[in-house]
Amino acid sequence: MKTNTKAIHTEFRRRDAYDALQIPIYTALAYEFDDADYMSDVFCGKVIVPDYSRVLNPTVIHFEDKIKDLSGATEVSAFNSGMAAISALLICVAGAGKNIVSSRHLFGNTYLFLTKTLKRFGVEARLIDLTDLKEVEKAIDENTCCVFLESVTNPQMEVADISSISKITKKKGVPLIADTTIIPFTQFDGKELGLDFQVVSSTKYISGGATSLGGVILDYGNFPEVSTLIKKDAVFNLGGYMTPQAAYMQVVGLETLQVRYDRQAESALKIAQKLSETPGVKCVGYPGLEEHPFHDIFVSLYGNKAGAMITFDLESKEKAFNFINSLKLFHRATNLFDNRSLAIHPASTIFGPLSEEERKAMDIKDTTIRLSIGLEDPDDLYEDLRQAITE
Ligand SMILES: *Cc1c(COP(=O)(O)O)cnc(C)c1O
Repeated sequence: MKTNTKAIHTEFRRRDAYDALQIPIYTALAYEFDDADYMSDVFCGKVIVPDYSRVLNPTVIHFEDKIKDLSGATEVSAFNSGMAAISALLICVAGAGKNIVSSRHLFGNTYLFLTKTLKRFGVEARLIDLTDLKEVEKAIDENTCCVFLESVTNPQMEVADISSISKITKKKGVPLIADTTIIPFTQFDGKELGLDFQVVSSTKYISGGATSLGGVILDYGNFPEVSTLIKKDAVFNLGGYMTPQAAYMQVVGLETLQVRYDRQAESALKIAQKLSETPGVKCVGYPGLEEHPFHDIFVSLYGNKAGAMITFDLESKEKAFNFINSLKLFHRATNLFDNRSLAIHPASTIFGPLSEEERKAMDIKDTTIRLSIGLEDPDDLYEDLRQAITE
C-alpha cells in the first residue's frame, strides 16, 4: 500500500468493544488481568499488553503502530515531546566517559542538552563540521557512542549527507542517529539511507495544526541492547511516555500528514522562488531552490519536495524587526509546520538566551528570518511577505 492509504488503514491490535472506527482515547490508567500467571507474564515483559499507562497505553500503541506502518521502523516509542524523545535516546546510548560526535548546527535545546546536561554526567559533545567527511571519520574513536545529526538544520539549512556519513558509522560500528523533524519519514526510507535511529518532534508536521506536543524514536533494530534500553529504561524509568490525549490528536494528524506536506512543500517552493527575486532580500535558504548549496544532496536523499521551512536574510537586524512587525497574515510565533503560516526572528528569540559568541559559533545571524509555510493560498502569503519587506 502507498503512504496515503497506509496512513488511514493501520489496524487496531484489538477490535474496539463498540466497533469505534477511530481509535478511542483510553484515559484509563490501569488494566485488569484474569489470573496471576498471565499478570506475571505481562509484568515480566513476556506478553506485551497495557498494564499501566506510564509504560503502555492502547491509544499510544496505535499511534506507534501507525508510524511503524508509515516508516518501516522495527520499533517506535512515543514520548511527551521532541526533547523527551531526544534526551531519552541519548541517555540510552551514552554513558560516563563516552563522547557524542555532532555539529554546532543544532536545535537550541538539543545543543544545550549535549553541551550542558549530558556534560554533567561525564559525556563529551564533539561538535564538528559534519559536511567534512574526513573530520567525521577523524572525530570517531573507541569511546564514541553515536553520531547525532539533524537532517536539515534550522535555521542554517545545512543538509547532512546521511548516505555518506552512514558509510563511515557502519565501518566504525557506531550508531547513526538523525533528528528528522524537518523532513517527515514518509518522504524517505531511513533504513535505506543507513540510519540506525530517527528522532522526530511530532509536535511539528505530525500533530498538524499545532494541537499537541510529542516526540518519537524510530528504531531500525541494528543495536539490540539500545532497543531494550529504550523500551525498558527510558520509558519505565524516565517517565516521559506520550499521553493518550496527545496520541489521539497525533493519530488524526498522521492521517493527513502526506496531503499537508505535499501542499505545504509546493507552496513553499513557489514562495521561495518569488522571495529570491524580491528587492531587499539578500539571500533565500530553501533546499528546493536549484541554486541552494545543498540542493543536489537534498534531492538525492528526499526527492523534489523540500518541506515548508524557508529562511531568508534582510540587510540589517532593524529591517528584520521591521519586517516581523509589518506582517498581517503570517503569525509572529515559534513552532514549525502548523496549518497557519508563521514567522520568527531566530537570533533574538529561540537563540536569544545564548551569548553572542555562542550564536556566532552556531552561525545564527541577526539578519535571518525563518518562515513556516502553512495551508493558506501561496499568493496571499507572498503578498503579505512582499508588503512587509522594505528595500
Ligand atoms: C521542535 C524541534 C525539537 C524539539 O521538539 P519539542 O516537541 O518542542 O520538544 C527538536 N528538534 C527539532 C529539529 C525541532 O524542530
